[in-house]
Amino acid sequence: MEITIIHKSEQDVHFLVEGVDVSFANALRRTMLTRLPAMAIDEVLILENTSVMYDEMLAQRLGLIPLTTDLESYNLPQDCDCEGKGCSLCQCTLTLEVEAGDEEVVVYSRDLSSEDPKVNPATGEIPLVKLAPHQHVIIEAYARLGTGSENAKFQPVATVAYKYVPVVSVDKKKCDQCGACVEVCPKQILKLDGKTISTQNTLDCSLCEACMKECEPGAISIESKPDSFLFKVESTGALPPEAIVETAAEILKDRIGVALDFANSL
Ligand SMILES: [Zn+2]
Repeated sequence: MEITIIHKSEQDVHFLVEGVDVSFANALRRTMLTRLPAMAIDEVLILENTSVMYDEMLAQRLGLIPLTTDLESYNLPQDCDCEGKGCSLCQCTLTLEVEAGDEEVVVYSRDLSSEDPKVNPATGEIPLVKLAPHQHVIIEAYARLGTGSENAKFQPVATVAYKYVPVVSVDKKKCDQCGACVEVCPKQILKLDGKTISTQNTLDCSLCEACMKECEPGAISIESKPDSFLFKVESTGALPPEAIVETAAEILKDRIGVALDFANSL
């Protein structure tokens, strides 16, 4: 198996995996989506809420805020010594106290203050509720680790997708250089170089096959490599994108190990 990183930023990573089959690629995708723990607010104590928003709706909005996650310091509640009752090793408290003065105020995720600086809203720009003059909210919220299989709010990824690696080929004997394929390609993969059609940035190809349908002489063929996959992983901000891929690969490895041990014991 070979991995090549194509693009990496603070939010997302694009990489190419070669030498694996589709079941492995999908297992890795699903592990990132459902097995990798992330922090989210799971219990909320509303001490005061004089806004027009119902307590339940406010609690739901708080639950959906992506929180930066520290996988080293926190346990999943079911694995914690407190047996999930909630202790400093499996729970983090955040508080929110805002009172509007004579003007209306929008309460944002940045108004939450956390007892642990490593667990904070991934972005402070998420609006939670609008307060009319003299309305106020006082809230205590408890965040914990959870997995996407429990609730989608615990998913550390906004997007995790893969596609086959496209192979675009042009038969120069059949091509009549009409240029229709160049016009129709939404990703600008094809270009007319003098009198020949050539390909560029083929990894961007979305396999839509519009060029094949447009090409009357049938000179273009699009295939995909069966053992290579292009992954796109976008983080919610809970974990750095490379940590998502690495930790998911470790979780998958452990699960395969358990499955092999079970198979060997039969
Ligand atoms: Zn605990």
